[in-house]
Amino acid sequence: MNRNEFNKNVFLYAVGLAIMPSIIRCSLEDIKTKKRIVIVGAGAAGLYAGYLLEKLGLEFTILEANSIHGGRLGKLEGFADYDIDTGGQWLHGINNIIGQLVTDKNIKITLDDAPYSFYFKNELISDTPKETFIFEGKNLPDSSFRQYSESQGLDETYNFIIDAIAGINGASPEDISAYWNYYEGSKSNSGKGDFKFERTYFDLINEHFAIPISDKIKYNEIVKSIDYSKKKVVINTESGAKYISDKILLTVPISILKENTIQFKPKLPKRKTDAFAKIGIGPGLKIFLKFKRKFYPDNILGGKTCAAYYTDSIGKITDDNIIIAFIMGNQAKALSELSNDLILKSLLTELDLMFNGLASENYIDFHVINYAKMPFIRGAYSYSTIGMGNARQVAAKPLNKKIYFAGEAMNLDGNHQTVHGALESSKIAIEAMFL
Ligand SMILES: Cc1cc2nc3c(=O)[nH]c(=O)nc-3n(C[C@H](O)[C@H](O)[C@H](O)COP(=O)(O)OP(=O)(O)OC[C@H]3O[C@@H](n4cnc5c(N)ncnc54)[C@H](O)[C@@H]3O)c2cc1C
Repeated sequence: MNRNEFNKNVFLYAVGLAIMPSIIRCSLEDIKTKKRIVIVGAGAAGLYAGYLLEKLGLEFTILEANSIHGGRLGKLEGFADYDIDTGGQWLHGINNIIGQLVTDKNIKITLDDAPYSFYFKNELISDTPKETFIFEGKNLPDSSFRQYSESQGLDETYNFIIDAIAGINGASPEDISAYWNYYEGSKSNSGKGDFKFERTYFDLINEHFAIPISDKIKYNEIVKSIDYSKKKVVINTESGAKYISDKILLTVPISILKENTIQFKPKLPKRKTDAFAKIGIGPGLKIFLKFKRKFYPDNILGGKTCAAYYTDSIGKITDDNIIIAFIMGNQAKALSELSNDLILKSLLTELDLMFNGLASENYIDFHVINYAKMPFIRGAYSYSTIGMGNARQVAAKPLNKKIYFAGEAMNLDGNHQTVHGALESSKIAIEAMFL
């Protein structure tokens, strides 16, 4: 089977277009021996990998450390009159696997092009005196967002707006490289526009990719060691179970790989561990605040406690008023140290300052999601660090034709940090297993 045939088959099935088992079966004859594959992680990447393998008629098992699947996708039920996305929620562009699925299945999405307001010098304004979205362009230096913004004359009054812009990329402005962030992102052909699903992103992935393979997912299986020294790969989990496979696809977050919580035999080559170390990932929280009425504009950048507040209701059928406090980087580090009550107090204090006491007056409820504290996630999403170079390429490269890597951080096409990017990385890893 050549790459084109593989792509054609996988694509046809992946988007759920015409069901053409004869084509698949015919091409599968080219895969001489049926391989057994273990996938580690049942987030978007692991689920999609399983879905593709199922369509190719191959044997596989997904080992998931958590008691549920979804990873950085999830939904919060009962908090509002609609289900809320606790992790990924926007579809960034529609020229990708998810966009194709949306088109083919006629799934309802809404463009979210709500404008930003800025909290600048203690005032809410619709535009800042100086442009702050300055991190696009070929000639950016390999220095931090903070250093670069300062060099462009954005003084400390712009600090929290720059925090917000770095935060959208999952980082503190001190840690993310202007050059590599742009360079990596510019490879994306996913298309423009951010879209919201009428239901949740979790539901979409669950219905199309998880439910069809649910019998292949083993929950509460925390992979602790992988022995790839012999012909077969031997995987041990904390429950004491042992799995033997021909190939293994690791889709755990980059935070897990960086922390060496999974032991490899033989040890991973230094070039690999160095590459993991160079890929950034920081803490991230999503806090949902429910209010009696909408006293706020759709999006506010520039808060000192939370640099980015978004309205959650765009694209939803709802009478509720929910704000997401989207907190990354240093602000996430600081809030993570506080109890939930203190987190709430800090956010209401900030919103009261912005809206003259209206936040406390209209407050109903809140809910905290803290990705850094989830034991099998331990961070938000990968970002481009200073001096990053080709770390992602080295990190994603398969080892000894036995260990394969996928997941958002392993996307080499500029779609890291996204759900569709996680899916793409799995498709490429599975392609690599058989070509
Ligand atoms: C706050 C937030 C907002 C986001 N917003 C968006 C958005 O709007 N749009 C978008 O496209 N993307 C968004 N993302 C990013 C998106 O959610 C991720 O890129 C994507 O879900 C990652 O999928 P993944 O499969 O690579 O990793 P994960 O979803 O993290 O899956 C990895 C899985 O591996 C499991 N695991 C870890 N260790 C082990 C082990 N030892 N053994 C077995 N299993 C293990 C984990 O439990 C997890 O289920 C957001 C992410 C966050 C955190």
